[in-house]
Amino acid sequence: MKARGLLAEARKQGRAALDEQAGKQLLAAYGIAVPRSLVVPGVADVDAAFEQLKAPLVIKVMSPDILHKSDAGGVKVGIGSAAEAAAAISEMMANPVIGASRVDGFLLEEMAPRGQEMVIGGVRDPYFGPLVMVGLGGIFVEVLADVAFRICPIERRDAEEMLDELKGAAVLKGARGRKPVSRGAIVEALLRIGGEGALLMDYAADIQEADINPLIVSENEAVAVDARFLLTKQ
Ligand code: ADP
Ligand code: MG
Repeated sequence: MKARGLLAEARKQGRAALDEQAGKQLLAAYGIAVPRSLVVPGVADVDAAFEQLKAPLVIKVMSPDILHKSDAGGVKVGIGSAAEAAAAISEMMANPVIGASRVDGFLLEEMAPRGQEMVIGGVRDPYFGPLVMVGLGGIFVEVLADVAFRICPIERRDAEEMLDELKGAAVLKGARGRKPVSRGAIVEALLRIGGEGALLMDYAADIQEADINPLIVSENEAVAVDARFLLTKQ
């Protein structure tokens, strides 16, 4: 199976984590929507991205040494042309943090429709096995720690209850004149990650931590625009 191969390849390369492209391929193998993307080695190769993908695009540095790409200056959204993409990559390469890191390449991907940013996480507990977590993005998770956890596998009802538990749950119904977002799409994503026969259960022995941050949820869909999978030590 493709998913197994992605993990095996990362192990073979001695990596502690899947790179972002592999992480998204793993999610896609479990039916979670991810942006269409491609990886380029450098400035010279950006034309192909604009032929194959629908601009505006996002550019992200791919490096095993960089955990928070935006903090390092390694994310640029709204790139409209190959010339802009080349300039963004040159700027990233000139950035001291990125310059001091191993760089695997640059991920160019389509922009997800605007929506509410959510976080779905997974962690492997030594006693309980995989746990799945959900929270609203940004300050809800980082400052308010407004998250809900369950032991896997979860059922639909658990996923619904997790969302109800969030103090900020009302945001999903549309706050401050914003449209409501698809609760069903979040529940579906939670089940594909933490449900029976889902990602975290299938790879309980391999995935130490999973972090989809953010999953962008709009009126009709949920797209995972960032994915990190930390592997267990072997
Ligand atoms: P990091 O968390 O490593 O800083 P992300 O990949 O999460 O980097 O990107 C940072 C932010 O950029 C995201 O939280 C999101 O707001 C925005 N973003 C990233 N990729 C996309 C995308 N494909 N479509 C829309 N917004 C995106
Ligand atoms: Mg992120």
